[in-house]
Amino acid sequence: MTLALCFHCGGIKFGALCPCEHCGVGATSDISLDIVFSDHHYAVETLEEFGAVIREINRHTTDPMTRFWAFIAYVATYHPSILAAEMPEEMRARVENILRQCTLPTVTLRPTYR
Ligand SMILES: [Zn+2]
Repeated sequence: MTLALCFHCGGIKFGALCPCEHCGVGATSDISLDIVFSDHHYAVETLEEFGAVIREINRHTTDPMTRFWAFIAYVATYHPSILAAEMPEEMRARVENILRQCTLPTVTLRPTYR
């Protein structure tokens, strides 16, 4: 069974492409993104640390798109080996403002044990 990060609440859910059992929100529409943040690639401790980043972002905005892009921008900035962000131009200022307000937890990339 795959354990994966929920981009909405930061919880760890069963199944990368399934709705989250904590918040009920479904996967992103980007399958490769959902798979990257699963235990196919990273240890569950790392996924939990990414979850802490999402919860910190969520404290500063309730807008789902801003939350999502703030997390993507965080990953692209601090862990550029994972992905590069192609953020919609209109999101950029808002996302940078949110990230400045956040006290971002440390995330250590650990490969999966599989
Ligand atoms: Zn969730």
